[in-house]
Parts: sequence; structure tokens; C-alpha cells
Amino acid sequence: MAQREPGLAAGVKAVLHSRRGHAALVDNIDGIVWEADPSFRFVFVSKQAERLLGYPVERWLEEPQFWVDHLHPDDRHWAPDFCLSAVQQCLPHEFEYRMLAADGRTVWLRDIVTVHSEEGRARRLHGIMVDVTEQRSAQERLEQTVSLLEATLDSTADGLLVVDRDGRITAHNRQFKRLWGVTSMHDCPHDSMLLDKVRGQLKDPEPFFARIKALYESPEQESFDIIELKDGRVLERYSLPQWRRGLITGRVWSFRDITDRVRAGRVQARLLEEAHEAVRVRDDFLSIAAHELKTPLTPLRLQLELMKRSMTAQEPVPEERVEKALAQVHRLSTLINDLVDATSVEAGRLKLRRAPVSLLELAREACSDFRSISPEHAFTCELPPEDIVVLGDRDRLFQVLANLLENAIKYSPLGGAVRVAVSNAQDAAVLTVTDAGMGIPREEQTRLFERFFRARNAPVSGFGGLGLGLYICRDIIERHDGHIWVESELGLGSTFHVSLPVMALRPQQDSPE
Ligand code: ADP
Repeated sequence: MAQREPGLAAGVKAVLHSRRGHAALVDNIDGIVWEADPSFRFVFVSKQAERLLGYPVERWLEEPQFWVDHLHPDDRHWAPDFCLSAVQQCLPHEFEYRMLAADGRTVWLRDIVTVHSEEGRARRLHGIMVDVTEQRSAQERLEQTVSLLEATLDSTADGLLVVDRDGRITAHNRQFKRLWGVTSMHDCPHDSMLLDKVRGQLKDPEPFFARIKALYESPEQESFDIIELKDGRVLERYSLPQWRRGLITGRVWSFRDITDRVRAGRVQARLLEEAHEAVRVRDDFLSIAAHELKTPLTPLRLQLELMKRSMTAQEPVPEERVEKALAQVHRLSTLINDLVDATSVEAGRLKLRRAPVSLLELAREACSDFRSISPEHAFTCELPPEDIVVLGDRDRLFQVLANLLENAIKYSPLGGAVRVAVSNAQDAAVLTVTDAGMGIPREEQTRLFERFFRARNAPVSGFGGLGLGLYICRDIIERHDGHIWVESELGLGSTFHVSLPVMALRPQQDSPE
């Protein structure tokens, strides 16, 4: 016995030593090692409990509801239930929750719990609580950064795509999908699949793909180009490498829809061109107008001086001289009237005084006037058996007919037939003036009724003009709810048609021509 005593003492010593070793080990573990009964009352907690949460170990052990009472209010409604349910099923479990420290801090803990049971009933719980506050806040910061980044990406107007060096798509934003009409990126994890999808949308795929290939070969390069799509959109493509710790990890592509900007630029260029054209037309017009107004003055002055000389010499003034002077005055007044009328037309101020007008009378009068003016032209007047009456301004309608006849003789300088015809077709009166003159180039026929427009044939005719007559005619006719148009063959002559709504048909009073 006496012999065994030193051995026992040594054994006890060894056990005590080993326990102390374990206790020291447990206390040094970076976490709270604990033991509790199934109602969560602690029967043991390691010293780290005080260091982590600031409450003395005694309180953990003495207060039966210590754990539940010191849970964060937001976790108190679920954490005990979760744990209880696992304990009832004798299942080990692991979960994260918050506890309130003695100084008011919130401490995030990961609790890893083992349930010891006997005959299917939980008897003891063992666990370790690890402080994961740092980890949690790092994770929250990361989540915050990621969500900020996602929101920023989605709120930019540019479509963005990030690809790693192997072509795997690592990020994209909503605008990218919208621009390229891609509904889901799940089926395109690799850029080659995406490129297959966009190929069909490109107007010119060759340079698009060549640029991508070149950038894969020189990953450090930045790039910028313009892409045109088949649907008319224009995109600006910008690309630069993605760097991490001095190494290129991939490439960021950004696409900006500049269709509106490009269109606005084109419109602006067109407007500028039109403005230049308008200035050119105005300058041409001013020089033509100056020339046209000056031309009759020289013969007019000459005739007047000759008349004065005759009067001074008390000789009779030849009538022919007076006629010639009057012709120049007529020419001047026609030009000035055209200018005045064109200004009214432009301002929308041309006034009409409407009354029933006999088209047959109008045609007869015009033919007879022009017959005396130009004996070298053979005028014919084809009129229907019934008179056609329209509601309109007689003087203005006569002005139109006179203008067409003036042009007919002006642009058939070698003489020839000039035919005036009046007819009635489907409630519309049609007045036509046909000449056998030089005709009008086909491509210029649509522009004849524009202000200041003179076709290529005008200068060769050698007759002046301001390019205002037909412009005024169109306005007068359209104000009568009618239409004016031309049919012409270069070198063969022209026919101008005027249609007007018929007011009435009545038997002819005068004998037809
Ligand atoms: P202007 O005769 O004073 O030049 P208009 O407006 O009357 O102006 O005519 C416009 C242009 O239409 C003329 O410059 C001419 O080129 C063409 N034109 C008009 N009538 C005829 C016609 N009967 N035959 C050939 N060309 C014509």
C-alpha cells in the first residue's frame, strides 16, 4: 500500500496536470467553449467568454437564461427556436447570430453545437462560439460594394461587358443586353457564343471581329471604333484592359448608342447645306432680278430720248416708238408685279375676290390678246359646247392663263403652234396650254413650281425671267382648290394643265371659236 501511494499520488498529479493542461488549452482557444443543459443553461464556459463579451464567467453560469437574455433583439425571435428544434432532434447544428456585449457592442458569433443524447433524448449540449464580427462586417462591406457596383453598372447609359483573358464573361449590365437584344446571358458564358448572337446584327462584321482578334493578341491596348447595325443604329465601342495587381485579367467593353447624335449631325449637315443653297439661290435671284429690271431701262431711255428729240424738233413722234417704250414699261411692270405677288404668296397674303367666272370667256380673251402680241405663233382655242363656270378671282385666273401663254411663246422662240383647250372631266374643269417649243428636262419638271426655279432650258432661250411666274400660278390655283401640273418632252414641247372645281355648266352665249 505504502509502496503504491507514491504511484497513486503521481497518477493523481498527472491527471490534475493533464486537466490543468486541458483547461489552459480550452481557455486559450480563440472562441468560447461551452457546455449547457438542453434548456440552454450554461454549466461551463471558457474564459474567452469574458474577453469576448465582457460579462464575468459567473454570470453565464448563474443566470439560467443568460444566452437568450443577451441575444440581439433581432435574433431573439428565431435563434433559440432554431437551436431548440435541432436539440429536440438531437442534431448537431451550426448557426450565426448576434449577442450584445457588456459595453453595448454587437458581437457576431458562429456557434457550432454538438448534442449529447441518451435514449434519444438530449442530455447535454457542447459548443464553441467563434467571434465572426470582423468577417461579417468585411462581408457586408463586400456586399455593399458589389451592390453599389451593380447599381452603378445598371444605371449607366452604356452597355458594359467584362470578359476574362480566356473569353469567359465575368460581368455585364442590363443596358448591354438591351442594346444587343440578348434576353439571357446564362446561355452565353463565353464571348464566342455571344459573338455568334450579335454577328447577324452587324452591317459590316469583318472589321468588328478583326478588332476583337487584334485586342486578344495585344491585351494591353485600348480601342475605340464606331459600329453600324443593320437596323440603322450606330454604336460607339470603347475597350480597355482590366488590371489586377499589375496583371491584365481581362477586358472591359463599353457600347454607347449614338444613333440620335449621328442623326442630329446628319440633319444639321443637311440644314446647313439647305441654308447654303438658300443663300446661293437668293444671291442668284438678286443678280438675275437686278439684270432683269435693268434690261428694259436702256431701250426705254433710248425711245424716250428719241421721242424728246422729235418733240424738240417739232416733228411728229412715231407711234411705233411709243409702242416700243410702252412694251418696255409693260415688261418692267410685269417683273415688278411678279415680285410683289411672290412676296404676298410667301407671306400667305395673296387675296382672292371670288365670283362666278366663265372659263370659255377667259380662254377666248387670252387667245385673242396673245394672237396680237405674237403673230409668229399659231394660236388655237379648243372649247367645249357648254360653258364651264368656276368660282374664282377672274383677274388672278387670267394672270395664270396669261403666264402660261407668255411662257409658251417665250420657250418656243422659233414660233409654232400654241393650243389652249378647256374641257370638263369628272366635276373638274381642265384648262391646258400646249406649245411645240423646247420642252423641259424630265428631272427638272417637279421643281418648276418652286420659287426662283428656272430650268436648264431657260438661259438658252435667251429670254429673261425671275423664276416666279409658275410659283405664283401654283399658289393662285391651289387657293382655288385646284391643281397645276406639267407634261413635257425635251425638244418636243410642253403642256401645262390647270384643273379647277366646276361651279356650274351652262349653254354658251357667245359663238364658239
Ligand atoms: P420664268 O419664265 O420667269 O423663268 P416661270 O416660273 O414662269 O419663270 O418658269 C419657270 C421655268 O420653267 C422657266 O425658267 C423655264 O425653265 C421653265 N418653263 C416654264 N414654262 C415653260 C415652257 N412652256 N416650255 C419650256 N420651259 C418652260
